Amino acid sequence: MEGKTNISEIFGENVFNDTVMQERLPKKIYKELKQTIREGKELDLAVADVVAHEMKEWALEQGATHYTHWFQPLTGATAEKHDAFLSAPKADGKVLMEFSGKELVKGEPDASSFPSGGLRATFEARGYTAWDCTSPAFVKKDEDGSRAILYIPTAFCSYKGEALDQKTPLLRSMEAVNRQSLRLLRLFGNTTSHRVTPSVGVEQEYFLVDREKYLKRKDLIFTGRTLFGAMPPKGQELDDHYFGVIRERIADFMEDVNKELWKLGVSAKTQHNEVAPGQHELAPIYAECNVAVDHNQLIMETLKKVAYLHGLQCLLHEKPFAGVNGSGKHNNWSLTTDDGINLLDPGKTPHENIQFLLVLTCILKAVDEHAALLRESASDVGNDHRLGANEAPPAIISVYLGDQLEDVLSQLISTGEATHSIKGGHLHTGVRTLPDFAKDATDRNRTSPFAFTGNKFEFRMVGSRDSVAEPNVVLNTIAAEAFSDACDVLEKADDFDMAVHDLIKQYASEHQRIVFNGNGYSDEWVEEAERRGLPNIKTMVDSIPVLTEEKTVALFEKFGVFTRAELESRAEIQYEAYSKAINIEARSMIDIASKHIIPSVLQYTTALATSINQIRSACAEANISVQIELLKDCSSLLAATKAALKALTEVTEKAAVTTEGRERAVYILENVVPAMEALRQPVDKLEMLVAKDMWPMPSYGDLLFEV
Ligand code: ADP
Ligand code: MG
Repeated sequence: MEGKTNISEIFGENVFNDTVMQERLPKKIYKELKQTIREGKELDLAVADVVAHEMKEWALEQGATHYTHWFQPLTGATAEKHDAFLSAPKADGKVLMEFSGKELVKGEPDASSFPSGGLRATFEARGYTAWDCTSPAFVKKDEDGSRAILYIPTAFCSYKGEALDQKTPLLRSMEAVNRQSLRLLRLFGNTTSHRVTPSVGVEQEYFLVDREKYLKRKDLIFTGRTLFGAMPPKGQELDDHYFGVIRERIADFMEDVNKELWKLGVSAKTQHNEVAPGQHELAPIYAECNVAVDHNQLIMETLKKVAYLHGLQCLLHEKPFAGVNGSGKHNNWSLTTDDGINLLDPGKTPHENIQFLLVLTCILKAVDEHAALLRESASDVGNDHRLGANEAPPAIISVYLGDQLEDVLSQLISTGEATHSIKGGHLHTGVRTLPDFAKDATDRNRTSPFAFTGNKFEFRMVGSRDSVAEPNVVLNTIAAEAFSDACDVLEKADDFDMAVHDLIKQYASEHQRIVFNGNGYSDEWVEEAERRGLPNIKTMVDSIPVLTEEKTVALFEKFGVFTRAELESRAEIQYEAYSKAINIEARSMIDIASKHIIPSVLQYTTALATSINQIRSACAEANISVQIELLKDCSSLLAATKAALKALTEVTEKAAVTTEGRERAVYILENVVPAMEALRQPVDKLEMLVAKDMWPMPSYGDLLFEV
């Protein structure tokens, strides 16, 4: 890819962003659009018409021929349907390039093939998409710029308005946390902030493998992960990859990824090698929650696209290789006002400290009360391989606060007063005694699933392939609920200072059990968490039921984020997603084992047998013990493979006729998954015995070290 490398010149060049709008829209229209964006209201159609016209003119100048309402159905991927900017030909045979306000704000794709979990009967298959004008439209171009399409970020609902996507509940949850945060700020005398928005920065991990080799791995092609594969002689034990020198080929790839992203207005900032060989990370600068979620989708798409152009394949699966680290995402989350106050910043004055401590203890309460829900928000099929496997946080939710904050909270709990700070902060009297605490960003506990890192929380459980929409929906909504509960108490208080003090102490005491600063990877923590009564939900299937528990329904209905029906549908979709994914994995294993592995082993054993016979007849005294031993070992592993294959085939077939929903998912978890593991074992042993040129696919060593 050629082009300008001056970031400031290319940044946002394909985005219909604020600068472009300011330049092109009449002042009055621009002001009205901005107000709509600020207040999250519905766009007036007259305004939309003007915006649409200008957007189209701008897109045509960029070379766009089509536009699409770009949305995020519950498949994990994004969806798009392209329409040309074209009206019916006139009598003279000419066409006009048209795009109305109505076409901008609303689309009507056929929704019948997207998962709806029973929300949408097929006779009302139409859904509609509505422009999320708070996330800017952009033009995506191909390599040489000859194909260009205008992308309009949209929400996707059923005709009755039920959410069929990730964005709709996300926008609803942002509204909920905005309202409750403002309530809380007003209580502390803030009259200047008008909007509170979650800020989100998502660190994305991924693997790169050579595309030629990838194409020889059917398991990677069909499922995104290797279903077989023996460990190479070298793994990640030397820790020589993490933050190591980035090789030329990868650096070239990263350069092009960055350029593509910058053009799309994604502020790709940090890149480095990760722990596992072949593993890397990319992080943009944080943005408003919904924009960050959209941008994360663009990042995933761009990584894949650019990898392809470089003869590489980007693997976003949570666990592409057994035995080496998998990939996740870190969802950094905070709450920011329109005038630049971060609610999670400890602040400088005792007054700000108190507000901060209330916000903090509200979040402790939120996370403790909804730990299972937060854990569910990070569930996806691939993440089952990662959580709790010494490379990612355990499946137990806990909060890391760092020594200083934990100490302040324990002083409050034990004496009702916090009089000193272990980082040497000094005591301010006058206001109820609370020490000053300096922002302490040096704390680095990488084993915590939910860590306070100075002025934000970092949720580290999310899977690398998953959308970050759901974790943020949960974070926003549980924070909204906790703030709302606190405001209900504080708005009635006679002595506000006293009431805040008491509430902080109460929340800190009641939810102290969720705080854990130690090593989250240790076995002791698993036992300790059990003593504390914290849930340890190990699998996706086990995590789903919380979605429809009364507590969850009450939470989401209270803040208008999900209805009961929407939650039920989401649970259904999750079970289905699980069953389908494992079914594909099982069938791929069956296919690869029967058509590739068994025939290859037969070839090898035949070669051994031929060799034995030939050597024996050529020289009766020759030592053929190695050949005989190999032949015996391979043959018995081959028999074990065949038996495991038969067992897997049986349970897979049975799963297909096991009703549906939860029942099928549980059957698969309990029967198909272990049968897959059982088949893998003899095959991986065979890989170590069979001659390399006879093994039907590239090895882990080829994939991980020859990029
Ligand atoms: P690391 O966790 O690797 O040390 P950082 O913590 O510096 O890296 O940043 C990780 C991500 O957190 C980046 O996307 C960054 O923009 C984002 N981030 C930084 N501050 C905030 C904040 N206040 N709210 C949300 N995200 C933030
Ligand atoms: Mg981080």
